[in-house]
Amino acid sequence: MSEATASPEAVPTPVETVIIGAGPVGLFQIFELGLLGIGAHIIDSLPQAGGQCTELYPDKPIYDIPALPICGAKELIDRLLEQAKPFHATFHLGQEVTEVQVLEDGKFHIATSAGTRLIAGAVVIAAGVGSFQPRRLALPGVEEFEGKSVHYRVKSAADFHGRDLLICGGGDSALDWTVALCGKARSLTLLHRRAEFRAAPATVARMRDLVSAGKMQFVEGNATGLRRDNDRLLGLDVRSADGRELQLSGDAVLAFYGLHPKLGPIADWGIELEKRALKVDTEKFQTSIPGIFAIGDINTYPGKKKLILSGFHEAALAAFAIQHHLFPEKRQFLQYTTTSPIMQKRLGVAGVESDAHSGGI
Ligand SMILES: Cc1cc2nc3c(=O)[nH]c(=O)nc-3n(C[C@H](O)[C@H](O)[C@H](O)COP(=O)(O)OP(=O)(O)OC[C@H]3O[C@@H](n4cnc5c(N)ncnc54)[C@H](O)[C@@H]3O)c2cc1C
Repeated sequence: MSEATASPEAVPTPVETVIIGAGPVGLFQIFELGLLGIGAHIIDSLPQAGGQCTELYPDKPIYDIPALPICGAKELIDRLLEQAKPFHATFHLGQEVTEVQVLEDGKFHIATSAGTRLIAGAVVIAAGVGSFQPRRLALPGVEEFEGKSVHYRVKSAADFHGRDLLICGGGDSALDWTVALCGKARSLTLLHRRAEFRAAPATVARMRDLVSAGKMQFVEGNATGLRRDNDRLLGLDVRSADGRELQLSGDAVLAFYGLHPKLGPIADWGIELEKRALKVDTEKFQTSIPGIFAIGDINTYPGKKKLILSGFHEAALAAFAIQHHLFPEKRQFLQYTTTSPIMQKRLGVAGVESDAHSGGI
């Protein structure tokens, strides 16, 4: 498995398949394609793989994954990544797929927000409920400062060292970064609308200790405006929980108000939609555009159930359909991983069983 870096000027890279979405179902698609000898590039707007499992409920147990009576959501993703490892998919994380265009030869041009450009023989959309976008600071003029002094994620912690930092939010990201950057930022203020937090209690306790020690301040209230001197950020205007108007100084704002899913560009690719989901058949899980498949929460068909289990089944059948799409002349037959030497070779386990037997009692 390798992580790719984007270079905006690069000519598009030819690849066999592109999977849009690295949630549980997209990850399993790597595996199912790999078993059939088909390589994949996988793209996700989030900086890490896992989709809803990692983003929304990493520590919650899942009870309906076959043969795993109980499995943490993050653990499931780690297992899927491990299972897909032999197939060396290329990961393009932290970038949204903005364009999927059908070319004259039936292939697809895929472009991302980070400038990655690929030409693929087939595309699998495993985009779940859409790409997760950070909830923005809802203040007039904020767009002028976004990416400069107002940020929704930390790319490099060092960017905030020595700054007068205002952190907004009450979840794990806000509290984790408050604790991590306190002492490194020149000054640090945490702003949250109430004194109760959704973050881990131990981190909240650590933050309160830092406040008691005079190393940072906590303000209970809501941001009402940006304080600026032309294009220089000076801080935030805040209405405190007890109704006072405050002016907080800061030259950098980190706002962690959570993420919301957005169907976004997928709606513009000319694929038939039904109630904001992609219509597919239940033989190939192909969309209205031949060569573009859709699996997992993003698709719809009679009887669809948005379960991880259903997405796994869809990935298996889509892999066969993709094989046929890419190599129509190739004869298809079902092989078992238990007995197929070619699949075992692809999995990197060829000879393991015979070695085990020869070394056994
Ligand atoms: C709290 C909670 C508990 C749940 N419990 C269970 C359970 O017990 N059992 C069960 O079966 N299911 C459960 N589910 C549902 C399950 O999580 C989903 O069915 C599953 O995550 C769907 O997987 P997916 O890969 O299709 O999509 P997702 O997990 O949504 O992943 C899609 C990925 O695609 C990315 N993406 C979308 N658009 C783009 C784009 N344009 N460019 C780049 N990337 C893009 C997104 O960023 C995301 O990472 C639960 C869901 C929640 C919220």
